[in-house]
Amino acid sequence: MTNKAIPRVVIVGAGFGGLNAARALAKAPVQITVIDRKNYHTFQPLLYQVATAGLSPGEIAAPIRSILRSHKNIEVLMAEVTGFDLENHAVKTSEADIPYDYLIVAAGAGHSYFGHDEWEPYAPGLKTIEDALEIRRRVLLAFELEERQAAAGKTATPLNFVVVGAGPTGVELAGTLAEISRHALTHEFRSIDPARTHILLLEGGPRVLPAYAEDLSRSAQEQLHRLGVEVRTSTTVTQIEPGAVYAGNTRLPATVVLWAAGVAASPLGKSLGAPIDRAGRVLVQPDLSVPGHPEVFVIGDLAALKDQQGKMLPGVAPVAIQQGRFVAKVIREELESHTNPGAPPFSRSSREGGDFDFHYWDKGSLATIGRAAAVAEFGRIHVSGFIAWLAWLFVHILFLIGFRNRLLVFIQWAWSYVTYERGARLITGSTYLPGWTADPPVSAVAAQHAPQEIHTGPAK
Ligand SMILES: Cc1cc2nc3c(=O)[nH]c(=O)nc-3n(C[C@H](O)[C@H](O)[C@H](O)COP(=O)(O)OP(=O)(O)OC[C@H]3O[C@@H](n4cnc5c(N)ncnc54)[C@H](O)[C@@H]3O)c2cc1C
Repeated sequence: MTNKAIPRVVIVGAGFGGLNAARALAKAPVQITVIDRKNYHTFQPLLYQVATAGLSPGEIAAPIRSILRSHKNIEVLMAEVTGFDLENHAVKTSEADIPYDYLIVAAGAGHSYFGHDEWEPYAPGLKTIEDALEIRRRVLLAFELEERQAAAGKTATPLNFVVVGAGPTGVELAGTLAEISRHALTHEFRSIDPARTHILLLEGGPRVLPAYAEDLSRSAQEQLHRLGVEVRTSTTVTQIEPGAVYAGNTRLPATVVLWAAGVAASPLGKSLGAPIDRAGRVLVQPDLSVPGHPEVFVIGDLAALKDQQGKMLPGVAPVAIQQGRFVAKVIREELESHTNPGAPPFSRSSREGGDFDFHYWDKGSLATIGRAAAVAEFGRIHVSGFIAWLAWLFVHILFLIGFRNRLLVFIQWAWSYVTYERGARLITGSTYLPGWTADPPVSAVAAQHAPQEIHTGPAK
């Protein structure tokens, strides 16, 4: 225990896992420190809406401080956690070491380029608000550059958007890009026809949405086709360069490439010194603790644990939420038992015996594809199309953090359903698009006004 009378729980990460652990501990006799490198919580399932200009960042994120403000025993620190000293029970940050009695690590995951980190500048992934804004910038900029080129009287080749990876994120990105180009932008350009944009979804495996049942994969592929997305399965990307993606020897022109193919756990998992799997996730005990450290828990995307059927738990929000609540319960009950004379000191063995093993309650999976297009799997019940999409809308509004955000997102979606509009179409930051080449040559007037790094002409 720390020197103070009240035990201290340190939670690293205020994503789905960390926030739910903090809230579930808020009434316990503990002091809680939540540490996150950001000052806000991101609702990742709606990041693709920011990336495709349907929503603004503030509508899918909320300040951690304000989410937890009513809990007086919780302090929030915005800091980068750099490692842990498990022997001395301390979390390392650049500023100071923060002591704990219990530690919950919920630092999530990032992208994996399968050993090709050099692809990242040409193919951004979608994990943070910054990523979403970068994708939005590239997509919208591509249309602007093409329009400018066509307005200058040059041949404008239709744009090619390539999405790599047909899991839920790749599918929703591809479907929504199709929707934007076919509907939202059609009447706003004078020299180009955005509807001619080619959207290509590449998947290394044999089917889209591989984690879903086969009939839903087929349905998702049909729905993508109807939206105007070309899907190529069993296609492995072997190289990405500015303006192109390679599948073996085949060069696929790409004005914008988006990466939705690989996930790697936070490096904080490795720094715990515990066994990890190939994705860097910590192989936790059934009670979600780190082997040899019953006072340290790892939850959410950073934890690797199998369910009762021996299947690895998926990296989804409900797993992180349930795990956050579960470790809070373990800590609460353990602290209560300590007030009883003769109770055993905390150890994994005192937790053995069923009650302290985590069991995931899978309530079903939903993946959206585009307007009125989605798939849903609730056990044996498989639903596609409009009904699945309505279910998806309902669940995402329900779980979004903050009443204000729920209301705003509901209004935005209702508006855009009726009008097809996407209101957050701001290009901010740089006007550089990797791979946009100087061929055909830019006119003297355009060159004079163009920032240095703009490249004109479509990717070939
Ligand atoms: C684009 C996208 C779409 C998704 N869609 C869905 C969906 O539709 N349904 C679904 O169920 N799941 C979805 N997921 C997955 C879901 O978001 C994750 O499973 C969930 O967020 C995991 O929660 P977590 O608490 O483990 O990590 P996260 O929610 O990722 O939170 C990790 C937190 O740790 C912080 N952090 C990381 N490293 C450090 C450090 N060194 N120091 C300080 N702080 C740190 C981060 O800032 C972050 O706030 C999606 C994910 C993405 C990326």
